[in-house]
Amino acid sequence: SIPLSYFAGIGKTAKNGIIVKGSNHLEALTDTGAVAFDKTGTLTEGVFKINKIVTKNGATEKEILKFAAYTEFNSNHPISKAILNEYKGEIDINKIEEYEEIKGYGIKTKVFGKTVFVGNDGLMHLMNIEHDDCDVDHSVVYVAVDNKFLGYILIDDIVKSESKLALDKLKKLGIQNIIMLTGDNYSAASKIANQIGIKEFYANLLPQDKIKKVNEIKEKLSAQNKKKRVVFVGDGINDAPVIAVSDVGVAMGGIGSSITIEAADIIIMDDSPISVPKAIEIAKLTKKNAK
Ligand code: ADP
Ligand code: MG
Repeated sequence: SIPLSYFAGIGKTAKNGIIVKGSNHLEALTDTGAVAFDKTGTLTEGVFKINKIVTKNGATEKEILKFAAYTEFNSNHPISKAILNEYKGEIDINKIEEYEEIKGYGIKTKVFGKTVFVGNDGLMHLMNIEHDDCDVDHSVVYVAVDNKFLGYILIDDIVKSESKLALDKLKKLGIQNIIMLTGDNYSAASKIANQIGIKEFYANLLPQDKIKKVNEIKEKLSAQNKKKRVVFVGDGINDAPVIAVSDVGVAMGGIGSSITIEAADIIIMDDSPISVPKAIEIAKLTKKNAK
């Protein structure tokens, strides 16, 4: 049975804007061996700004932006907002005939009667579209129309102001394994990881790769110490499956998608990564009081 003090612990986390769905999750946090974070929207603001549009094959910036905006019109991804903010023109929705999200890659649409792909370089490879591989420390959105590569849009996100502090606090709590998992490209991921001080990160991950990674971390920890738990923290729709397989799944409550919040054991209402060490701290204190 669970000691009464755990109910006090849940009250205490709630006062800090941290919703714990059961005292078992609070108890699991006391054995945290690794914390894995999603990047976009979790450690970063998830608010992208356009840095530059690079044109290829005779395309114009205007053309690239127009196809990208029409394609992103129905998307909820943070990238979509950035592109629609930059595109100042009207969107005639009658020109959008088909819309399909390709998870972890981007979007396929039919707009103005043309087949359009907007997404990462993996999407270009997947569709066999000849393109320039570009290795820059920005997130890159590739645009192709009727199998012709038009160019790419470089976009930047910013690190949340509390991310570094959250990391430092986790280290102080004795958590050795702090990891970042992202679908974004390696250079963009590396730039963000460096800013926060995360040494271990994995980029270009599809949603199923994130699950594989978390399972690998679980196995590695359990080989060292059976009790140690893996916490995953994320926000997007794509994070719901990985939240479900983690020992403790944490969702950002403010910007998180409803599916993600549903799958989570713990919800952080103010979207601040600082709430992760805070919850662990409260969990440890609760355990001490239970003795
Ligand atoms: P993450 O939040 O870790 O970046 P996602 O699985 O949401 O992971 O996306 C992985 C990658 O797929 C993104 O970094 C981006 O390159 C591409 N992508 C996903 N959705 C879109 C979109 N709506 N527009 C353009 N690219 C996208
Ligand atoms: Mg995310």
